[in-house]
Amino acid sequence: MAKLPILLYPSPVIRKKSLLVTSIDGQLQRFIDDMVETMYAAPGMGLAAPQVGALKRVIVLDPSHDPAHARPQVLINPVLVSGEGQVVEEEGCLCIPDLNESVSRFKQVVVKAYDRNEKEVILEGADLLARILQHEIDHLDGVLFIDRLSTAKRLLLKRRLKKAKKD
Ligand code: ZN
Repeated sequence: MAKLPILLYPSPVIRKKSLLVTSIDGQLQRFIDDMVETMYAAPGMGLAAPQVGALKRVIVLDPSHDPAHARPQVLINPVLVSGEGQVVEEEGCLCIPDLNESVSRFKQVVVKAYDRNEKEVILEGADLLARILQHEIDHLDGVLFIDRLSTAKRLLLKRRLKKAKKD
């Protein structure tokens, strides 16, 4: 396994739409192992393939955030089937270090995907798990959590991020 470099905002790659995975071969399995290792090393609770430069619809996550009892979940071609309720919580992203902002998300979601054994899985998640799922699936469409902030907040933030880049 190998740790992969995580792309940082404003990399154009993390703004692109990822492609559906059509075959789960050995190469993809190795890539998934690398993604899992990268997520724990970061450390993060979730990672989407475009964050490490691969435009494939693959996400890995582990809300327990504990490499000692690692139970990483691998979702291939995940689709948000439904969402219910709204909850505002602070969120961050490995592509935008040192930034946490309150984001409104569904409280509960249902996600359909394939696991790494090509088995279809239906995942029901609430609270933190629901938030990670929504955040990571957004990545597959080139959407970042800062896009989900209010317009005023987003403008303020853009200025801050631009300034940080110059400094
Ligand atoms: Zn992220």
